[in-house]
Amino acid sequence: GQKVVLITGCSSGIGLRIAVTLAKDEKKRYHVIATMRDLKKKDKLVEAAGDAYGKTLMLLPLDVCSDESVRQCINNVKDRHIDILINNAGVGLLGPVESISIEEMKKVFETNFFGVVRMIKEVMPDMKKRRSGHIVVMSSVMGLQGVVFNDVYTASKFAMEGFCESMAVQLMKFNIRLSMIEPGPVHTEFETKMMEDVAKMEYPGADADTVRYFKDVYLPSSIDIFEAMGQTPEDIAQCTKKVIESSSPRFRNLTNSLYTPIVALKYADETGGLSVNTFYNLLFNFGPLMHITMSILKCLTCSCLRRRTISPN
Ligand code: NAD
Repeated sequence: GQKVVLITGCSSGIGLRIAVTLAKDEKKRYHVIATMRDLKKKDKLVEAAGDAYGKTLMLLPLDVCSDESVRQCINNVKDRHIDILINNAGVGLLGPVESISIEEMKKVFETNFFGVVRMIKEVMPDMKKRRSGHIVVMSSVMGLQGVVFNDVYTASKFAMEGFCESMAVQLMKFNIRLSMIEPGPVHTEFETKMMEDVAKMEYPGADADTVRYFKDVYLPSSIDIFEAMGQTPEDIAQCTKKVIESSSPRFRNLTNSLYTPIVALKYADETGGLSVNTFYNLLFNFGPLMHITMSILKCLTCSCLRRRTISPN
C-alpha cells in the first residue's frame, strides 16, 4: 500500500519541493501530508502540486514550536499512522552574536532543535509499536562544521545532530530508520530572507571592525559560495527521495559533492586546526579572491577530500 509521509515546513523551499516530488511519484507510492504553520500560505504548494492535490497530497496546519499544534496535527492523521516523518522546518540566523538577543537565539533552537524533538516524541511511540518507520531530518553541512557568523544556527543544527546520532542506536533496535540530509548551500527563500534581514540590521552592540568583517568580508564571500556551488530545492528533494527509497539508507547523507572538500577538513584533522585555519585564510586572506579559491576547491579531487554523497540524479 501507500506510505504515509508527513513533512514539516511545506509552504516554501525544500519542504515544498519534497512534498510535490513525492506526491507526483509515478507509481503513486506516497500519501503526502504536507504541513505548514499557516494554511493561508498554501497557494504556491497547491499550484506546484497540480493534479496531485487532493489525491496523493493533503494539507494540515502544524507549527513545530507548539506542543498543542503538533499533538493536534498527528491526532488528525488516520490512526496516527505515519510511515515516514520528514523534519524540514527550520530558520536561519546570521550576524555578529553581540547584536543578537538571547531571545532570538532561543527562537532558533525552539524551531531547529526542539521542533524536531517535539515531532519525534509525538510520532516515535507509534512507530516503535509497529516496529517500522523512517525519520528524516533536514540538517545541513552546518550541522557538521562551524561557519563564521552562523554561530547560533550552526549550534542548533549541531544539537540536532547529537540528538539524532544518539537516538539512531535505540531506534535501530525497533527497526526504525533515522537519516540526516546534509545539504550545502541551496537557493531558497531562506537565503533571500536572510540577506534581507541582514541589510535591515544595524548591529547594535557590535564594534565597527566586527560589523565590517561581517558585511564586507563574510557576506560577499558567502554570496560567492552560493553562486559557485548552490543546489536547487529540486536537487535536495531528489536526494531525499533516494534516501527514503533506499533499502539500507545511510545515517548521514551529504548532497553536494562540490562542498565535500570543506567538510573533509574536519575529519582530516581531529584537532580542529585545519578547519579553523583554512576558514580563517579563506575569509581574511583569500576573501577578495574567493572566485579563484572556489574554483580551486571545485577542482580538488584528492581522494582524502572526496566524500561520499548521494547525488540528485
Ligand atoms: P525556507 O525558509 O524556504 O523553508 C523553511 C520552512 O520552514 C518555511 O516554509 C517556514 O515557514 C517553515 N517554518 C519555520 N518555522 C516553522 C515552524 N515553527 N513550524 C512549521 N514550519 C516552520 O528555507 P529552506 O532552505 O527550504 O529550509 C528548509 C530546511 O533546510 C531548513 O531546516 C534549513 O535549515 C535547511 N537547509 C537549508 C539550506 C539552504 O541553504 N537553504 C542549506 C542546508 C539546510
